[in-house]
Amino acid sequence: MADCIFCGIVEGTVPSEKVYENDKVLAFRDINPAAPVHVLIIPKKHIPSLLEAEEEPELMGEIIAAASKVAKELGLAEKGFRLVNNCGDHGLQTVYHIHFHLVGGRQLSWPPG
Ligand code: AMP
Repeated sequence: MADCIFCGIVEGTVPSEKVYENDKVLAFRDINPAAPVHVLIIPKKHIPSLLEAEEEPELMGEIIAAASKVAKELGLAEKGFRLVNNCGDHGLQTVYHIHFHLVGGRQLSWPPG
């Protein structure tokens, strides 16, 4: 989709540090990391937010599977991690191409602010 920065990353016109890719899903380092490990996992297909995910159950499963794989590959299995989706204004979503934050490498707090 034009003007979508994450579509640009999928197409290769926007640079990124990729950590995992298959035909449907891409994972890359967040440009402003909130933890020692902060990876964004996205579908290559443009889906604006979690509100549209109901129509894409198989693709959402691919994302969860990629998160599991990347978490293990980046050394997060032993201590744990968090997988987060921010949706809409109250969720503080800033990029409207659905993405899941894989965050770990330090002790996280709960509940979120
Ligand atoms: P959210 O606020 O949940 O929509 O998260 C958007 C995330 O995308 C933020 O954590 C940003 O730091 C990250 N981000 C924005 N642009 C880029 C980029 N070009 N490469 C990597 N991460 C980015």
